[in-house]
Amino acid sequence: MQPFAPLGRNLDHRGQKCSYSPGDTDTTDCPADATWHILWTTELDNGFACDPHMAVARERFVFVDSHQVGPDCGMPGRVWHYTQKRCLHPDEPSTRRAAVALLEPAAGARQDGAQQ
Ligand SMILES: [Zn+2]
Ligand SMILES: [Zn+2]
Repeated sequence: MQPFAPLGRNLDHRGQKCSYSPGDTDTTDCPADATWHILWTTELDNGFACDPHMAVARERFVFVDSHQVGPDCGMPGRVWHYTQKRCLHPDEPSTRRAAVALLEPAAGARQDGAQQ
């Protein structure tokens, strides 16, 4: 089975609704408020899930990280914060440091590949 969740169409995440949508259309969208924010890829593709659909995601799909939905989740310009397990706005200095830290492993991996 395909281990990666279908990302589907771009949704407006500001409502923080569960983005589980089996048919990927408005009529199949889960109507529940999301309780979890899921980071699907390191390119920051992300989605929202209610408790039952978070359970489905944990069972069926690989994802990078997840945290419980907070006030900044889904807001434009927010940054995914791994260690604090939440989304933060990048205007905060602590968020900027974390965002830089996120970029370093990928750059290091590319350098390693070039040297071998
Ligand atoms: Zn749901
Ligand atoms: Zn979040």
